[in-house]
This record gives sequence, structure tokens and C-alpha cells, in this order.
Amino acid sequence: SPILWWVRRDLRLSDNPALAAAVSRARPLIPVFLHDETVESLGAAPRWRLGLGVERLAKRLRQLGAGLVCRRGPARETLLELVAETGAGTVVWNRCYDPDSIARDMPLKAELARRGVAARSFGGHVVFEPWALETGAGRHYKVYTPYWKALRVLDAEPPLASPANLTAPDIWPRSEDIADWHMGAGMGRGADVVAAHVRVGEEAAADRLEQFLEERLPRYTGDRDRPDLPATSGLSENLAWGEIGPRRCWQAGMMAMDAGVAGAETFLRELAWREFAYHLMYHTPRLLTANWRTRWDAFPWNAEANAPEVLAWKQGRTGVAFVDAAMRQMHVSGTMHNRARMIAASYLTKHLLTHWRIGQAWFAQHLIDWDPASNAMGWQWTAGSGPDAAPYFRIFNPDTQLARFDPHGVYTDRWLAEGRARPTDTALSYYRAIPRRWNLSPGDPPPQPVIGLSAGRARALAAYETVRV
Ligand code: FAD
Repeated sequence: SPILWWVRRDLRLSDNPALAAAVSRARPLIPVFLHDETVESLGAAPRWRLGLGVERLAKRLRQLGAGLVCRRGPARETLLELVAETGAGTVVWNRCYDPDSIARDMPLKAELARRGVAARSFGGHVVFEPWALETGAGRHYKVYTPYWKALRVLDAEPPLASPANLTAPDIWPRSEDIADWHMGAGMGRGADVVAAHVRVGEEAAADRLEQFLEERLPRYTGDRDRPDLPATSGLSENLAWGEIGPRRCWQAGMMAMDAGVAGAETFLRELAWREFAYHLMYHTPRLLTANWRTRWDAFPWNAEANAPEVLAWKQGRTGVAFVDAAMRQMHVSGTMHNRARMIAASYLTKHLLTHWRIGQAWFAQHLIDWDPASNAMGWQWTAGSGPDAAPYFRIFNPDTQLARFDPHGVYTDRWLAEGRARPTDTALSYYRAIPRRWNLSPGDPPPQPVIGLSAGRARALAAYETVRV
């Protein structure tokens, strides 16, 4: 009987534990993608980007004489239907660790078993599964530095090779056409603009890693905070959808470290932040929805997502150059530099006293590398409500940060148009990406500051008194 490989956030053939296990059984393989409830719940940009990744994987599978069966519907019913239709005796998948996926997968696994179908899941979305590490006291980690110290000495599984060939079934089940799902519908006209910035698929991801190792890694430690330079890997887009396995990145980092390449350890530390986010989300899923530190429930957040100053932030029109450039980078490219994410998030939660969940949700709509764990951790870290968070009273000054990390104004020139005699093409492309109803144009006067930086800072510190212990 055939084996179903349920494709989720693992759009790759190499280093894919579920696929490798299926192939080792030498049975006909049916790769399946379900447009299920978790896909329905994605924000506009991640859903669009996922669609591009799925199309690319389907193409790759076709080139190998296989295919990808696409069906839309609730995961449970749709998968059970496919099992019945194909007579599959085994279903394999790679684990996701967010609470919604766990709530979907666990009962389904039990139900498949009841029906005599072997359901096997594998760990491929992280280097070390969330339960692989515990503190001396047998608990999970809440602080990054001890977590990193424990993680760095663990032996990671080496990445797995791509299967040499795939055995097709005699009869392929019916498949829906991904194009009919209109996964980019929520993007509006932004899709055309962002499309110029994406790098889709397993091959693109492998090239990206290669290029990063050769050209950027040696200077990564010093330059990774510079949004004006092409200094980081850009791999989050591919890691988010599993177009590259994290173990492949980890191994590359380890090998570079052994070879004495400067920057390698810093790169590993960053990958470990991703691991840490998954560790935290798995052990405390409320990371996604509630203040991790409950005393923050008393903080006087503004929770009005449509307040005028929040709209200014969303548009990239706060009058603070670093924040505005950051938000526009996200509209145009679907990503944002890490330093810029920290500044934009800090400004929203501190200077504008706005609840981090509003920012988290906006990012979840606009990031093509949206990741439930890293996004939630990033927001709670910045807001001060998270585990191992930045102390609230340490409030980034976006202007000082800009002078330090964009010393020649390259980043702001790249993204801001108003008031400039000859705006750059990238800055102008923002106007083609945003909703028409915002009615903005490059000829508008530069935005006026929503709040003075020192007044905002003083207000934030006063509000902080309510939760200070
Ligand atoms: P590189 O510098 O090349 O780093 C390599 C890899 O390490 C990244 O691809 C990523 O997987 C991981 N990494 C690096 N920094 C972090 C970090 N701070 N936290 C977790 N993992 C990290 N990252 C996402 O992938 N998806 C998100 O939705 C997301 N939302 C964020 C929201 C906020 C408010 C903040 C402050 C950070 C967020 N991050 C998120 C983390 C980080 O900004 C991105 O991972 C990084 O900018 C990706 O660029 P890169 O691939 O070039 O990174």
C-alpha cells in the first residue's frame, strides 16, 4: 500500500526526515498538501508565500516523475478521505510545534492508528526538538544564555540527503489546482511588488546559504546589525516554509566554526534564537497570545488597533525615519531587517504604548518569513513582557540607533520618498504595494512626528511604574 507524505512547513526533498523515512520503505509515495484550517488562518503575506512554495515543490516533484496531490478542506476529514481513497497504510509528516498544529495532529494520529494506519511524525523543523534540552532541575529553559550554552555542545543530527528517486503509485488521486485557491488574494496589488523580492524553493535556499557563507559570514558579527548592508543570510524566508532544513544551516555554521571563520559562532547563536523560540512556544504556548510575565496584564496598553497613531505606524508615517523605513521595507519586500524589527516594535510598544499583540498581528499579515514562535518571542522580548526580555526601561532611541546602524543614510534613502528630490525606485515601489485607500503619494510632505521621542520615552517610563516590582 502507498505511503502518504503530508507536506506542511517542510517544502523540501533534502534533509527531510519524514520523506526519507517514507522512501526507505520502497513503497509508492503520494505527497499531499492540504489547504486546511491552519492555512486558512495564515495572514495575507505568509499565505501567499506558502502558495508560491507549494507550487515550486509541486513542479519539482513533477520533474522527478512524481506529483503533489492538493486538496482543500479540514485536515482531519480530508486526510482520512485520502487514506480511504488510496488505501495508504502509512502517513508520515514532520512535526510542527505550535499549539494549533499540535491540537490538529495529536487526535488525528490517534484516529489513524485506530483505523490501522501507521502515522509517524518526525522532527525536521528545528535542529533540536523542544524537549531535547532541559535544565539541571529538569525544567525547560526561560533564559537564552544558559540555553545556548547547553545547546552548543549537543550533537546535531547531520542533514539527510535527497532521495535518489521516488516511486509513483499506479494511479494518482485527483488533485485540485493550487491556482484555484487564490492564496495571494489577501495581498491585493502588493503581490506584484513583493514578488520581486522573494526567493522561492529549495534550490534558491541552498544558493542563498552558499552565497552567505562565501560572501557575508566573515563579516557577519560586525555587520549583521546594519540594515543598510547586505550582511545577513535572508534565510528566514526559506526556513519558515522548510525550503531548507535548519540542520543544514547548523552544520554549515559548525563547519565554518571548525574552519575558524569569523562570524560562524554568531550565526549559530542566531540559529539558536530560532530554536529557543520553538523551545519557549512548545513549553509555554501562551507565548503566542498573552503576556508571558503576567504582571504585564496590569500595564496600561493601548489596545485600539485602529487608533490614528497605530495607523501611522502601520503605514510607515510616524515621522521617525528608522521606524518608517522599517515598515516600508516590510510592505515592499515582505521582510524587515532584525534591527529594524526591534526598533519598529520598540517604538510601537513603548513610545506609542500600544499592545504588542497589535504589532504581532500586523507582522503576521505582512511578513513572508512569518514564524509563530520567532514573531511572538520577538514582540514579547521587545515589549518587555516576555521571558528573558529587554528591560522595559531600556528604551531604544530610534534616531540614535539610526545614526549608529545606518551611518550614511543608505537605508532610509532606500525606503523613504517624501521630501527627497530624487527618491529611489525602492522607495517609490512602496506606493505600488500599499492599499489605494490610504491615498498616499511620494509628493506628500514628510510625515510629522506622532509624538516627540523624549515625550514618548517619559510617558512610557511613567506607565512602566504600574508593573515595576
Ligand atoms: P540571519 O541574521 O541571517 O540569521 C540566520 C537565521 O537565524 C535567521 O534566518 C533566523 O531563522 C534565525 N534568527 C536570527 N535572528 C533571530 C531572532 N532574533 N529570533 C529568532 N530567530 C532568529 N523571524 C522570523 O523568522 N519570523 C518572524 O516572524 C519574526 N518576527 C520577528 C518579530 C520581531 C518583533 C523581532 C524583533 C524579530 C523577529 N524575527 C522573526 C527574528 C529576526 O528578525 C529574523 O529571523 C531575521 O531578521 C531574519 O533575517 P535573516 O534570515 O537574514 O537572519
